[in-house]
Amino acid sequence: MLIKTLLNKVERFKSFVYGSVCVQLVDGMEALVIDIEPRRNSRPLCPECGKRRSVYDRQPQRLFEYLPIWTFKSFYRYAPRRVDCPTCGVKVEALPWGYGKERMTFSYQVFLARWAKRLSWKETADIFETSWDTVFRAVQFVVDYGLAHRDLDGVTEIGVDEIKVFKGHKYLTLVYQLNAGVRRLLWCGPERRAKTLLRFFHEFGKERSAQIKFVCSDMWAPYLKVIAKKAPQALNILDRFHIMRAFGEAIDQIRRDEVKQFKANGQENVLERGRWLLLKRPENLSEKQTIRLDELLKLNLASIKGYLLREDFQRFWDYQRADFAGKFLDNWVTRALQTELEPMKKVARMLRNHKPLVLNWFRAKGQLSSGAVEGMNLKAKLTMRKAYGFKTLKCLEIALYHTLGALPEPEYHHRFC
Ligand SMILES: [Zn+2]
Repeated sequence: MLIKTLLNKVERFKSFVYGSVCVQLVDGMEALVIDIEPRRNSRPLCPECGKRRSVYDRQPQRLFEYLPIWTFKSFYRYAPRRVDCPTCGVKVEALPWGYGKERMTFSYQVFLARWAKRLSWKETADIFETSWDTVFRAVQFVVDYGLAHRDLDGVTEIGVDEIKVFKGHKYLTLVYQLNAGVRRLLWCGPERRAKTLLRFFHEFGKERSAQIKFVCSDMWAPYLKVIAKKAPQALNILDRFHIMRAFGEAIDQIRRDEVKQFKANGQENVLERGRWLLLKRPENLSEKQTIRLDELLKLNLASIKGYLLREDFQRFWDYQRADFAGKFLDNWVTRALQTELEPMKKVARMLRNHKPLVLNWFRAKGQLSSGAVEGMNLKAKLTMRKAYGFKTLKCLEIALYHTLGALPEPEYHHRFC
């Protein structure tokens, strides 16, 4: 009796009543089974037109998994009716606690998905003695609901980013909303081609795209082309995070080439374990690392020249005015092009070719948070790292929407966890 009272408190269905509750074996484990019956004289809902229709027949009893109660798995047991709908034909009735052939109730799916946001999917499955696949389906349900019910109005600042996924050269393109207070993942899709970003703009819609004021992106040509075409009114900014990332990649390339050269010449590899020293900013180095870096600086190495060129470029971001910054940029590019460092020259040429977009950073100063894209990028990477077990891109996309999408959830008057 007590369980029924509690159930009616947390989840009451208008046209159904809770019947008897018993403990019995389900899949070899003791579980609570809660019978549900239609309220007397109630008529079932047609799942297609949503109208109340007369009963055609009744199907065998089915179990619907509900939230665990005192660590017992619990199930609703109900024999669905079929409606005889003059418009839609004979259909299985729509139920307020579950959908289609899915065995989980809506409440249980929301419950699992909430936990899957805090823990990894594997941990969630382990704790609630269910499978990884069940957790996946629960998250997918919540994400599908959220995407269908979210509000996309008021998006005026977006960031376009890409992350490497799995092994090899596979990418996901991510589009974030960067407005202060509503930073979230708006969209993600496989690859990083013009076609990819065109899909975003297509799904986002013309009217909304016309509202965009700022777009942060990197120097990836297919993106730049699509942004100019689909949001011509927006200020496209090559932001600090993306530009400095290109520097990081260039330094890494120079170092790898140099190590190869050492090996070919049979020289000692002084750069061994030096990768992180070169990628880090000086202020982030420990004392020991700083000493080691000082030693490296004494050697006349290409990697070190690259490192110094990048450090020198950091001054660029301190300028207040676009014209002064532009002069500094020209000067830096000239110096970089005089070196033998091919990867760094590549960065310099890219900066020169996209100078107006790089300088847009200063035109938007004060209106855009510099760390916004980087913050979202870090969160996306963290989600991927926690996501071992994600074998497909589709899975990964769902996980990213789930953790970064700030999606609305189905509403319940009781919050279970
Ligand atoms: Zn119907």
